[in-house]
Amino acid sequence: MTAWTRLQVDLAAQPRIWLITGVAGFIGSHLLETLLSLDQYVVGLDNFATGFQRNLDEVERIVGPERWARLHFVEGDVRVLPDCQGAMWHPGAPAALGNSVHVVLHQAALGSVPRSLLDPTATHATNVTGFLNVMVAARDARVQRMVYASSSSVYGDHPALPKTESAIGQPLSPYAAGKYMNELYAGVFARCYDLPIIGLRYFNVFGPRQDPTGAYAAVIPLWASALLRDEPVWINGDGETSRDFCYVANAVQANLLAACTDNSAALGSVFNVAVGDRTTLNELFVLMRDALLPVGVAPTAAANHRPLRAGDVRHSLADIGHAQQLLAYSPTHRLREGIVAAMQWYTRRVR
Ligand code: NAD
Repeated sequence: MTAWTRLQVDLAAQPRIWLITGVAGFIGSHLLETLLSLDQYVVGLDNFATGFQRNLDEVERIVGPERWARLHFVEGDVRVLPDCQGAMWHPGAPAALGNSVHVVLHQAALGSVPRSLLDPTATHATNVTGFLNVMVAARDARVQRMVYASSSSVYGDHPALPKTESAIGQPLSPYAAGKYMNELYAGVFARCYDLPIIGLRYFNVFGPRQDPTGAYAAVIPLWASALLRDEPVWINGDGETSRDFCYVANAVQANLLAACTDNSAALGSVFNVAVGDRTTLNELFVLMRDALLPVGVAPTAAANHRPLRAGDVRHSLADIGHAQQLLAYSPTHRLREGIVAAMQWYTRRVR
């Protein structure tokens, strides 16, 4: 039995109270789906800045009404400290659990490097001040664990591949600077207040419910939508830019392992969350196009190239050894399996 399978069995037998910030977003809604499926009690906080009611509705359909009743949703803003403090409490949890949140999974943020370059103030307010507010509220509520979303963008201009947690360069965008500040603050709260906190550096997470619309859509949902509509696909640069694409189920696994580990060496630390595979954008395009054939879609549009975006790093590949060793993290999905699952979802959603 893997550590992940064992953890799911243990959690189902012993419910806890969780807070997911950014619960209506892509990754937050997957954390919600998994936790409710494991009979946990969840407080969900979101202001719908980039998240959607339809993500919550889809989780409700999947888990059914009985489990859905274990969610206490708070429409609120991480930039507002009282909203974070108010979310540390689940009014519907059984008295035996004590009502107060045990574990915080902090996902709320304004994603996108280009957005942060256009509006660094807005990105800072949510991603840094909002992070600090959630941490202060978590400290004051004496939570057992806080896990937060950092990003591979923290590696910045460091040339080494694969990326290991200890070797980072200069951040290349306000978004990256903000995520790095999260890590600095998390270290301070671990040292000064004994906050049991763990950071996860996500590498290009993808999967169902990742938004394909808007100016800041990520590459996989953007291309999925274009391919399904037989519209042109745009590749930034020559297509030899590479990424370590990580299916969302792997990110969920990493969060719950980090939330429940009793390995004290993991506390105050950050972990790469990825697969450890490097794929170029040109390879990704072919993989995505081919994944549509079994669902009866044969896109004819070719890939077009345009200039690279400012702030983007050229290559990204994770060393996941640290998470494997300390958290017993073991990705269940490699790129191809994840793309098949994601394309099935986009096929239902877009067509
Ligand atoms: P997302 O935009 O789908 O989810 C973010 C959620 O946070 C949304 O529901 C949004 O409404 C909410 N939110 C934003 N501002 C808020 C505020 N002020 N108060 C309350 N809620 C607010 O993004 P995602 O892809 O699910 O990302 C989740 C986290 O993972 C973010 O912290 C992001 O920076 C990080 N991350 C994601 C990736 C990726 O590839 N998806 C990679 C690296 C890091």
